Amino acid sequence: MMNRRHRQSAQSGAFIAFFVFLAGAVPAAGQSVALRDPVEPASGKPQAKMSARPAGGVARASVDEKSMQALIGKLVACGTRLTLSSWTDAKRGVGCGRDAIVARLKEIAKDSGGKLQVVVDKFESTSERTSGKPMPLENVYAILPGSDAKLAKTIFIVSGHFDSRPSNVMDPQADAPGADDDGSGVAVSVECARLLSKAGADGRGAYRATILFAAVSGEEQGLLGSYHLLDWVKQQGYTVGGMLDDDIVGADPVAGAPHRVRLFSGNGEIDDADSPSRELARAVEEIDGRGAIRMIFRVDRYGRGGDHYPFYKAGLPAVRFTEPLEDYNHQHQTPRTENGIEYGDFEKYLNFTFMGDVARDNAEALRQLALAPEPPTNAKLTGAVTPDAKVSWVAGDDPERSGFEILWRETSEPRWEVYDFVASAGEKVLKGVSTDNRFFAVRSVGKNGARSIAVPTEMERRPPPLPSAPKQ
Ligand SMILES: [Zn+2]
Repeated sequence: MMNRRHRQSAQSGAFIAFFVFLAGAVPAAGQSVALRDPVEPASGKPQAKMSARPAGGVARASVDEKSMQALIGKLVACGTRLTLSSWTDAKRGVGCGRDAIVARLKEIAKDSGGKLQVVVDKFESTSERTSGKPMPLENVYAILPGSDAKLAKTIFIVSGHFDSRPSNVMDPQADAPGADDDGSGVAVSVECARLLSKAGADGRGAYRATILFAAVSGEEQGLLGSYHLLDWVKQQGYTVGGMLDDDIVGADPVAGAPHRVRLFSGNGEIDDADSPSRELARAVEEIDGRGAIRMIFRVDRYGRGGDHYPFYKAGLPAVRFTEPLEDYNHQHQTPRTENGIEYGDFEKYLNFTFMGDVARDNAEALRQLALAPEPPTNAKLTGAVTPDAKVSWVAGDDPERSGFEILWRETSEPRWEVYDFVASAGEKVLKGVSTDNRFFAVRSVGKNGARSIAVPTEMERRPPPLPSAPKQ
């Protein structure tokens, strides 16, 4: 599957090149043309040694699409999973959905050699969409503890929401099958638990950091489960290394499927649009490949929200996966037929080949991130008004780290490139490189080849002199 996707993207590249040839003097953006800029550095550009990414990747063929489908079938059979529906009725309501997820995770935990821990987290929350009254809610977590004493306090999260909604978000009676929104994301999260905890039991992958596979409730009532999840991981003393929200990742009806999954990341609130979330998105794309991931540089779809948002607003790395092109007749709709149009979020619209790709890509991203050393901190850029850029950073001891990659990119480019590799933290002078023409970042590299997310350098702000106050 990966091969096929890579072949497709190579073909479209050849097509673009052919088009540019025909178009002659006006090359398309991104095509190689002679860029008449001064070369930096003029000489002596480092030849960074690039270590291979960690072996033992999650194979696409190992994804169990049938079990994903079976779980979604059980969720849909609960009739509705509105958070305001019953938590105690085993046959109908959100509690029925919780039971299906807990049962599946317990099966998976059995095959993990006792490593995977299943937790049902009960809490109360209030919003406009609970009529301002505290409502009981529950989240389900499966936790795979990290193997490294220090890094085990860093947690990587994959999450889907198991609540669903009909047209009226306050109506606990109407059917709300929620196969795609968000049975699909729950199935992806649970399948990641199986793929990664099984590998752990085989002894193939001992992840250094902790991984949490979540199915949360309360999303449709105001991201209540996700806000609570963020509080919960903080209370447990974890640092969030990254959060992958999978919401509406099940359908891909347009001809040519499977297409790339969309990956949304917010800009953050600093000038250069390099937020921790953006760095997580870049890391996921680099791990899974451009043939698999379509990065979209906005926090979410226009006018929409999701469970990555509380993490993103807290300044943590959090991104959202969503299918290539949504069909709004199949979301947030009470099942019905009107004027020959069928409304409702049914299992029959799902594409399990696409969803299996999404599961694989989430699992592989989690695997590599949880194998990586901690990202560096305090990354700084100095050297303004001098011929050389100076990049400095700090990092704690880690015997499993081989060193750091210094990254750079044109300010108008979306992706980092490796400029140099350095064995230890401190300051590195980039001889003959301007501070002004590119952005810079640093990331940690493990002896196993796993990379942390990038940490962009902060610049010393040098405000221009202000005009003197006019004389009175
Ligand atoms: Zn959703």
